[in-house]
Amino acid sequence: WDLGCPKVSAFDPANPLIISTGPLTGTIAPGTGRAEICSISPFTHPKELYTYSSFGGTWPGAFKYTGHDAMVILGKADEPVYLSIHDDDVEIKDASDLWGLDTFEMQKVLSELEPGASVACIGPAGENLSRTAIILTETSHASGGAGFGAVMGSKNLKAIAVKGTGRINVARPDELLELVRYIDEEVGYGTFGMLASKGDGLIYFEAGKRTGDKLKKYWKKANGCFGCPICCEAVIDIPGVGRGAAMCSDWVYAECGSRGPGELGDTSYYLGEDKPTAPAVTEKPAWEAAILSQKFGINNFDILWGLTGWLWHCYKRGILTEEDTGLPTPEWLGGTAKDHEFLTALFYGIAYKKSPFADGVTRAAEHVGKESWDVLKELYGARGYVSHWMDAVPGVLHWMFETRDPFDSCHDYFQIIRRPEISKYAFGTEKPAHSSLKDPTKTVYEDSEIAVIITQHRQRIKNSLPVCDYAFPVLYSKKRDGVGDTSLESRLYSAITGIGLTEKELLSVGEMIYNLERAIQVKRENRTREDDAVYDYKFKHRYWGEESRNVGDHWYGPIDKEKFEALKDKYYERRDWDKETGRPTRAKLEELGLKDVADELEKLGLLPQ
Ligand code: SF4
Repeated sequence: WDLGCPKVSAFDPANPLIISTGPLTGTIAPGTGRAEICSISPFTHPKELYTYSSFGGTWPGAFKYTGHDAMVILGKADEPVYLSIHDDDVEIKDASDLWGLDTFEMQKVLSELEPGASVACIGPAGENLSRTAIILTETSHASGGAGFGAVMGSKNLKAIAVKGTGRINVARPDELLELVRYIDEEVGYGTFGMLASKGDGLIYFEAGKRTGDKLKKYWKKANGCFGCPICCEAVIDIPGVGRGAAMCSDWVYAECGSRGPGELGDTSYYLGEDKPTAPAVTEKPAWEAAILSQKFGINNFDILWGLTGWLWHCYKRGILTEEDTGLPTPEWLGGTAKDHEFLTALFYGIAYKKSPFADGVTRAAEHVGKESWDVLKELYGARGYVSHWMDAVPGVLHWMFETRDPFDSCHDYFQIIRRPEISKYAFGTEKPAHSSLKDPTKTVYEDSEIAVIITQHRQRIKNSLPVCDYAFPVLYSKKRDGVGDTSLESRLYSAITGIGLTEKELLSVGEMIYNLERAIQVKRENRTREDDAVYDYKFKHRYWGEESRNVGDHWYGPIDKEKFEALKDKYYERRDWDKETGRPTRAKLEELGLKDVADELEKLGLLPQ
C-alpha cells in the first residue's frame, strides 16, 4: 500500500518484490523459520494479480540475524547480479558469469564466494521468465506457486545471499521455553500433528503409506527449516542420480516411481479409473525428475497436480496429440516414450521457454485451444490454479475471495470439514463439517461464510508472524485426540515480543491485514464483487475438486449459483463490506485503524457510498 499499488505488469522493473520475515522468525518457536514474498504475480490468470507465497529453510532465520526484517527489491539491473547481505553490509555484485547455472550449482558457487551464507536463487526457468519459475533455497525449500522466480529473473537478480551474526532478544525467554515444551509434549503440531509423527522427514510416507519402501531405503536424514523440530523434509540420495530433499509435491514424483506400472506411474489409477496392472517399478526416474525440476527452478505443483491429469484427460478424449504439446507421448498416454524422455523434454521446454507449458498449464490450454480449455475448467479452480480442496462449500467460497489457490497456507481446512467437533471449536458451529459437495442434494451451505472469514484471518496471521502452515493453527490435537489449542500463536507472539495480545486481538490483526489486502486489490485491480468467483463450469457440471491426479473419485458439485450468491451476501455483511461492490466500507476501515486507506480510496472514487 505504501508503495502505491503500482498498476504495472509482473515483469515491469517497477513491480516491487517484497521479501519479509516476521516477529517470530529466527526464534526457537516451532514452525517459524519462514519468510513471505509478496509481488505482482506473472502466474495468475488472466490478470496478473498482487499475491503472496512463502518459503522456509535456513534463509529466513539467517536474514533476520542480519538485523533486517524485510527487503523491497525495485528496478532492474543492467547486467545479471546477485545481492549479498552480511549484517549491515549490503552489496549488489556481478553475476554475469553465474547466469545460466542451475539452482544447485549456483548455491555451490556462492558457498565459496560467500562462505557461511544462506542463498535463495533462481534457475534457468527464472532467468528465462517462465511464469512457473520458483525461488529456491537449499534443495527443496521454495516460493513456488506465484511465479516469483520469474520476477527475480526480470530484474536480472540471480540470487540473494544472506549471513547474519546478530541476535534476537526474546522478551520473556522462560515463557517461550515453557510454550515450546507445552506444544511439543502436550498439544502437538497442526496439520502434521494430525497426520504423523515428527522428526524423520518421512511424514508423507507415513501419512498414507503412499510410497511404500521404494524411496525409504535411500533416506539419509531429516531436514527442516530454521529451528523447526518437525523436520518434514527427507534427504534422499540415490547413487547415480543424486542427493536432494523432498517434501510436499516432491513426493509425488516419488509416488510415481513407486507405484508403476510406468516410470511415472499409471495416471489412470490416480484418476480413479482403473487399478494398476503391473508391478510397481523404477524409483530412479522419479527421483531424477524431482531433482531436475528443483535444479531448473520449476513449480512442481502445477505439473504434478495439474498438468499430468489435464494431459491424461485430453489424450483420453482424443483432444490433444504430440503435435499440440510438442512432447513425446509417454506410455501412460498411449505413446512409446519412456517417462524419462517425456519429463526431460517437458522440463527443458519450461526452463528454456521453448514449450507452451513454460507459462503454466492454464496459459498452455489457452494456447493449444480446442476442447482442452473445457478440460482445464473441469480440473482447475480459478485464476490459473489447479483445484485444491474445492470439495466442500467453505473451500469453494474461500477460493472465490482470494487471488490464488489459498490452500497452500490453509492446510487446517481439511480438518474442519471432516470433524464436527473441530468445526465447532474453530468456528462455533458444526455446520461447515456437513458441507461436502460430493452429493449436492445433501450439502449444508449455512455458516460456511463464518468458516471462511475466520480461516482467512488465521491465514493472514500465519503468513505474517510467520508460522508454518504445517504446524499452525492446532485445531486438532492428535495427542489429545480432540480439539487442539488455537491460542498458541498469540501466546508465542506475546512471549517473544513482550507485547501482550490475546487470541481475539490477534485475529483482529488478521482482519486488518485482510482488509488492507482487499484495498490493494481494489486500488490496483479494480476488484469488485464480480471478481469473487471460480470458473463458471463448476455451476453447470460435476468437476474435479481435488488436485487433478489424486487417488480415487474426486468429482463434486455442480454447485448452486443462487446459494453461493446468497452466501457471498452474508460474507460481505459479516465483514461490514458493501454488498453491491464487495468493497470495504469507510466505517470498517476506520475501525481497523485504516483511515488513510479509506481516504485514499475515497479520493479515487473507489470507496462504496
Ligand atoms: S513443518 Fe516443515 S516446512 Fe514447516 S517450518 Fe517445520 S520443517 Fe519447515
